[in-house]
Amino acid sequence: MQCDFRSSIECFARHGVRKTAVWRDKLEAIGADEAARILNDNGVEAVSFCPGGLLTAADPAKALDDNRRWIEMAATVGAKSMVTITGGLETGDRDLAGARLRALEGIGKLVPDARAAGLRLALEPLHPMICGLRSVISTLADANAILDRLQADDVMGLALDTYALWWDSELERQMERCGARILNFHVSDWLEETRDVRLDRGMPGDGQIDNRRLRGVAEAAGFTGDIEVEIFSEADWWQRDADEVVKTIVERVAVAL
Ligand code: ZN
Repeated sequence: MQCDFRSSIECFARHGVRKTAVWRDKLEAIGADEAARILNDNGVEAVSFCPGGLLTAADPAKALDDNRRWIEMAATVGAKSMVTITGGLETGDRDLAGARLRALEGIGKLVPDARAAGLRLALEPLHPMICGLRSVISTLADANAILDRLQADDVMGLALDTYALWWDSELERQMERCGARILNFHVSDWLEETRDVRLDRGMPGDGQIDNRRLRGVAEAAGFTGDIEVEIFSEADWWQRDADEVVKTIVERVAVAL
């Protein structure tokens, strides 16, 4: 069962989960001020705001305006980072190199806004199967290269999602290169017979990703933050009772990570 913002935060509190990422659509439904009150009333902290970015549109002005509003929302709920995905290709656009350039330029323009808001931008590369739909940046090597170009590590960092990156033979070397750039660490599992590359994520322990090993690599590289279990699961976990889902997450973090 998918919850509204208040019932999801109350459910986390019931199970002793005191930190969560907050999702933009849930915040937009009730307003950031109300969301901040709900978090505070339940003793739950927002570690990150998801997702910002989506900067590859042919006319980036609207996207920049949206992002400035989202940065404000994220700061209002006390999030430390805004998870930033580049966006994919617009309908009919086949200029992948151009979209990558717009994403780089757009993120660069948001650096002063994030700095002023006291918030960090966590660039999240996503799986290559959704390059055209959600993220023209697919590998950690490319994400690291963007951060090298921007030279703004006081504001910029990375969100590593094991579901997006686990297949990459360069992953561990690139994670070591990240060091303190790793701001967010997302885990779920890749199901052997996945039915949907975006919306059929498995619970850690149910699939093929060695999440425990990757967590160790992240921590050895300098990551000191919280582990975020991120399950998009339209046909399975989203159909279940919220208390069952959160209880399972708590159990799996203990045994699979
Ligand atoms: Zn993620």
